[in-house]
Amino acid sequence: MTDARESRRDFGELGRVVVKVGSGIIAPAGRLDPHVIERMAEDVTALRNTGLEVVLVVSGAVAAGYLGMGREQPPTTVVERQAAAAVGQYQLMTMFAREFEKCDTVVAQLLMMQEDIENRRRFISARHTLQELLSRGILPIINENDPLADDEAKIGDNDHLAALVTSLVTADLLVILSTVAGVLRFGDKDGPSGQADLDGAEVIHTIEVDSDIDGHITDDQSETGVGGMRAKVRAARLASDWGVPTIIASGMESGLLERIVDGDEIGSLFVPGAKRLSERKRWIAIRTRSRGSIVVDDGAKRALLERGASLLPAGILDVGGDFGIGARVDLLDATGTSFAVGIVSYPASEIARMKGRQSKEYQEVLGYKYVEEIVHREDLVLLDPKASNGESFDDGEEDG
Ligand code: GLU
Repeated sequence: MTDARESRRDFGELGRVVVKVGSGIIAPAGRLDPHVIERMAEDVTALRNTGLEVVLVVSGAVAAGYLGMGREQPPTTVVERQAAAAVGQYQLMTMFAREFEKCDTVVAQLLMMQEDIENRRRFISARHTLQELLSRGILPIINENDPLADDEAKIGDNDHLAALVTSLVTADLLVILSTVAGVLRFGDKDGPSGQADLDGAEVIHTIEVDSDIDGHITDDQSETGVGGMRAKVRAARLASDWGVPTIIASGMESGLLERIVDGDEIGSLFVPGAKRLSERKRWIAIRTRSRGSIVVDDGAKRALLERGASLLPAGILDVGGDFGIGARVDLLDATGTSFAVGIVSYPASEIARMKGRQSKEYQEVLGYKYVEEIVHREDLVLLDPKASNGESFDDGEEDG
């Protein structure tokens, strides 16, 4: 990491920006703050007036809803959170719509959950809707579909959602606004315990792909928010890994968004990785969950890693999970280490019958042959061996 004070490195041509605003900023202590929302509307409008397209990811449904549903404290159970979000979401949107109307901006609401990302058809459909809205100058405001998202169905935190949306709309920059000024550097005395004097701590302005900043991440989070700084950093890593610069900065001051986009050194910039994944491979990488696993032998692993091959039945040692065609699965080596994710062309039960066999045996074993490959190269994303969090992907392919 470096702390160059001068100007920030050039973002290149910016066309589309995703801005994420958290509950802690707009709804502290269970009440939406109209002044903050007014300021956000003005700041986002200023950004749009520079010619940029903006997509907002806004949290705060749970925070805005729990007092109204008769609770004095933030909800603790899943179903209470869902109910609070149902109360809060329309209040949130009503207030945003009102403030943006003053700026002559029409807003639209999209509520998404995991299935909308995992299912390719729904993903593409969401993309089309967003493209249509943006082409008409409408400002999309996105939140997780919290009222319907139980633990199984939810994306989890809005920082992660914002990273997914960055891929969904092929944005050029992700800005995650926070209640603190960025990732803070803690002195020896302070430590990342949340006890440190946040006002006194210095912001780490530039974070490279391989910077180790774990020791500087606090575990603090707002009462109704989900992930705190750790989730923001994870989301920033995810987006920057696939080539999108990401900035974590303060959402507590006005006028910062425009300055960030101008390249002023504000907040923490996660410098994007050099390689970009194609849109389809990005989608494979960001699908939130694998449905099963396929264990392959060393020869198959080498062919996948080094020769750009597809996965054929002969190299398969084992299959785990009960999944259908089109599921995302983890590819594991013989030691159980995951090294890739891919979309399967056959269901688990049929892969189990074909494992270790030659491709010419499809007809004999299954009674039919759909395609040659169990996972086609085009449906495969290799995990970066340097990435320890398992969320960094790199197949060496340029954006297409
Ligand atoms: N989607 C949740 C809400 O609107 C917040 C999730 C998060 O804080 O990341 O209340």
